[in-house]
Amino acid sequence: MALSRLDHLYRQVILDHSSHPHHHGTLEQATDQIELNNPTCGDVIQLQLILEEDRINDIRFSGSGCTISTASASMMTDAVIGKTTTEALALAEQFSLLVQGKENEEMEDLGDAAILSGVSKFPARIRCATLAWKGLEKALSEARKEQDNE
Ligand code: ZN
Repeated sequence: MALSRLDHLYRQVILDHSSHPHHHGTLEQATDQIELNNPTCGDVIQLQLILEEDRINDIRFSGSGCTISTASASMMTDAVIGKTTTEALALAEQFSLLVQGKENEEMEDLGDAAILSGVSKFPARIRCATLAWKGLEKALSEARKEQDNE
């Protein structure tokens, strides 16, 4: 496949996620929630999770953001739903490496999120792409701290 066709395909997947985001909305029974913003672009994201025995049973996001941040949040929720905290944090680490241009084989586990590797060429958009993942990391590490205190 010619590179331009590939870029086109990736762009289409990103646009599909941003116009019809997966797991968009709120959770009444959320056990953990967080809000993060990216002042450089103006993206704001609220994440809500239902953690049960260290597993992400459900996740939703809301807020307002650019195409990249919305698509990335949608892809992130697809990648981590049903995963344990440890698995989800490992995926967040993989994603962080990916957008720095450090790809490796384990990145298949990221699903559609792996498509955002192209963002590494646009430093200004890296924060847009990582916002949802940073939120996830923060929410999960706070949840862990709470558990340790119990
Ligand atoms: Zn943005």
